[in-house]
Amino acid sequence: MAESVAPRLRNLPSVDVVLKTEIADVLRGQYGRMAATDAIRAELEEARAACRAGAEPPEAEDVAIKALRRLDTANKTSLRPVFNLTGTVLHTNLGRAVLAEAAIEAATIAMREAVALEFDVAAGERGERDDHVRALLCELTGAEDATLVNNNAAAVLLVLNSLALGRDAIVSRGELIEIGGSFRMPDIMARAGTKLVEVGTTNRTHPRDYADAIGPETGLVLKVHTSNYRIQGFTAEVDASELADIAHKANVPLVHDLGSGTLVDLSRYGIEKEPTVHDTVLAGTDIVTFSGDKLLGGPQAGYIAGKRELIARINKNPLKRALRVDKIRLAAIEATLKLYRDPDRLAERLPTLRFLARTQEEIAAQARRVLDHVTRAIGPDFAVEICACNSQIGSGALPLATIPSAGLAIRAYTRGGMLEKLSARLRALPVPVIGRIEDDALRLDLRCLADEEAFMVEMAEGIT
Ligand SMILES: *Cc1c(COP(=O)(O)O)cnc(C)c1O
Repeated sequence: MAESVAPRLRNLPSVDVVLKTEIADVLRGQYGRMAATDAIRAELEEARAACRAGAEPPEAEDVAIKALRRLDTANKTSLRPVFNLTGTVLHTNLGRAVLAEAAIEAATIAMREAVALEFDVAAGERGERDDHVRALLCELTGAEDATLVNNNAAAVLLVLNSLALGRDAIVSRGELIEIGGSFRMPDIMARAGTKLVEVGTTNRTHPRDYADAIGPETGLVLKVHTSNYRIQGFTAEVDASELADIAHKANVPLVHDLGSGTLVDLSRYGIEKEPTVHDTVLAGTDIVTFSGDKLLGGPQAGYIAGKRELIARINKNPLKRALRVDKIRLAAIEATLKLYRDPDRLAERLPTLRFLARTQEEIAAQARRVLDHVTRAIGPDFAVEICACNSQIGSGALPLATIPSAGLAIRAYTRGGMLEKLSARLRALPVPVIGRIEDDALRLDLRCLADEEAFMVEMAEGIT
């Protein structure tokens, strides 16, 4: 055996020979000399092992091609675009809100140029980062003052730590939420240095529960929007305006974590009405916190709006510096918020609202347009038909609300994990297609299919 292996190994091209091939020029040009040499070495190592196992030695060109493929694969963007056909518009695992063009342009400029981030251009002096959006936020929420941080989880942490460090925060037992990614209200409170005082029961909390719990140690009363669940049946909660009265009588602030937080009445766009941030401020809430990338449709951010004196205390907290937003996002946020000044054209310009506002007929028409392409692409083992389905908003916003939608339902003619395999093939495409398997069908909800052209091209190229 040793006699037959040795000549094969001897016939393996050397690194230098592979580096002299034409493909190696491409390799070097694209990835640099070091990476090219390393990739060739790695390929030769594998070829050597294959020779020992009985394979014939490869040509130098083949080694170079393999090395190029190796680097192409390693160089693929990990955070890549996908077709979100899950039916969940704000899919946390797929990056939540898709940004408006105006926001993308603003962010691009902020990336490319020096910008007046903390510089008052008129006065030639140091300025404030928050000033770019403070007035806009006040205008849109009706609050006296506002600030922003990395996300709403950070906003809640910062508010609790600023206003109730070492003191009590009173919360209803019905509102001790856990949202995805291990954000649990009791844990956040502990980390914020706030003592949690639970009042009421899981299903019912009354005004007197809060009033009885307020004492000299109380730092604030917290109301939390139960974003991702609903308690139904025999229930009672104290609404924001009544709770504001109770808190104010005792001279403590009412903080409301609104979660998704919308700036406009969604019923305009055919979606169930949620109290807007403005409604919440009007109810007498002292501080409202809400997310930037849920229903608001902008970049990830956590907004804090409310009383001037409380915002000043929050801004003085050193944690604020640790949680601040960078210039790229700030630029995109300013552009997104400005779109809200023209509610009539908001649904056109803000992708989140545009997706949510699409009618079932419109989506069904799109399903008819793509049906043949998809049927041909997935081959003869499956039946594809247009189906009605229900989209969700996602990100814990309006958890029970579903929006009538349409798409394609794909069923396999035979059993044996055919649908799972098809689902994996669709995910392996250059732009992965993400659907959901439900009732023995792979469903592609087309509500969020914006680039129909690109989807058709990908389908036309076929699925391997
Ligand atoms: C989503 C949510 C949060 C967290 O917001 P992020 O912006 O995701 O950090 C906090 N509280 C409530 C009630 C939420 O719904």
